[in-house]
Amino acid sequence: MSYVLVVNSGSSSFKYQLINMATEARVASGLVERIGEPMGLAVHSNVDGTSDIERPIADHTEGFAAMMEAFAKSGHDLGETPPSAVGHRVVHGGKRFFAPTIVDDDVAWNINDLSELAPLHNPANYQGIVAARIAFPDVPHVVVFDTAFHQTMPAEAYTYAIDRELAERYRVRKYGFHGTSHKFVSEAAAAFVERPLSELKQIVLHLGNGASMCAIDGGVSQDTSMGMTPLQGLVMGTRSGDVDPSALFHLSRKAGFEADDLDELLNRRSGLLGLAGTGDMRDVSRLAEEGDAHAQLALDVYHRRIRHYLGAYLVHLGGADVLAFTAGIGENSPETRAEVLRGLEWLGIRIDPERNALPNRGPRRISSDDSAIDVLVIPTDEELEIARQTIETIEGAE
Ligand code: ADP
Repeated sequence: MSYVLVVNSGSSSFKYQLINMATEARVASGLVERIGEPMGLAVHSNVDGTSDIERPIADHTEGFAAMMEAFAKSGHDLGETPPSAVGHRVVHGGKRFFAPTIVDDDVAWNINDLSELAPLHNPANYQGIVAARIAFPDVPHVVVFDTAFHQTMPAEAYTYAIDRELAERYRVRKYGFHGTSHKFVSEAAAAFVERPLSELKQIVLHLGNGASMCAIDGGVSQDTSMGMTPLQGLVMGTRSGDVDPSALFHLSRKAGFEADDLDELLNRRSGLLGLAGTGDMRDVSRLAEEGDAHAQLALDVYHRRIRHYLGAYLVHLGGADVLAFTAGIGENSPETRAEVLRGLEWLGIRIDPERNALPNRGPRRISSDDSAIDVLVIPTDEELEIARQTIETIEGAE
């Protein structure tokens, strides 16, 4: 029986899930956090309950030791029965990685080398890979890239109109992210409507803290709203999305912002947080309901940006068969879905308000039966997709 350990590593924490591939059920999951801080914490849960370990965790290698201890405390000795494989989420695969890849030293080095394209994410992903390979030296490790699904975009979608040679030398182009989620959701949507993926034009709206949309034709990504980094496109929890780059020159000249200040401003202090004072959609919605004008404007900007990309993608694709909402906001906020699709009956998009309001879990249709375009809510499951791709990659290599 095969079990895949899925690891999503950040700079001071990592999340993991152990998935039984026969049933695709979670066997265990957990979080190791505060790595490098005076007191670290590993919180582990499985069907029998939870177990915590609190002690200093100097680095990711010690983090994996803490994770294995937490597993052992709950009765599962990973040293004796290790997972069949480890699947790692990696944010940036650059141009080099267009498919999940079995890790060797060269692959690991290349992921680290891509850090200049994703300075917040790739170094942390790399640390997780190094530590996991020490913890599980005898099992295959596979890296699954957020960018890989979008490597099919045509050149006119991924090319920025700047100096060609400079762009080539510094690898400046659109890569796109959330690929694992867009792939998973578009496949699940095809299964839900019981039509072949290859026949469907889909627009997936991944609306979480990070947010992106993807135009997918026949299962192939044609365009996506994030860019060279996850900053471009939609308004997000703390990221601005699209801004005229000249605004940054202006802030640099007039307000003395350096590159790092601008990076921090646009990635961490903008988006819903910048406009409404909180980056959490539930709080923004509550404030707007209470009459807060800033929160209301934040919502209006948020919705308008999504509609902007929706219009663009409907044109790029020449229409759509399916719109699929996913992630924290997409799955849980009927108000967001209703606002984004308001007044689009002329396009063949008809939302059934009752279906939209049902607090269901699981894949569901929220459009009415006479809607030309099927509007769905499809819960994303990036960990499961990583586990599936891990197994497929290993089997493909055999
Ligand atoms: P991440 O990108 O960190 O994985 P999530 O996909 O968990 O983020 O999405 C987090 C967002 O989902 C937050 O803005 C949160 O407020 C929002 N969210 C979660 N539940 C609801 C809800 N019931 N209504 C509106 N927004 C929600």
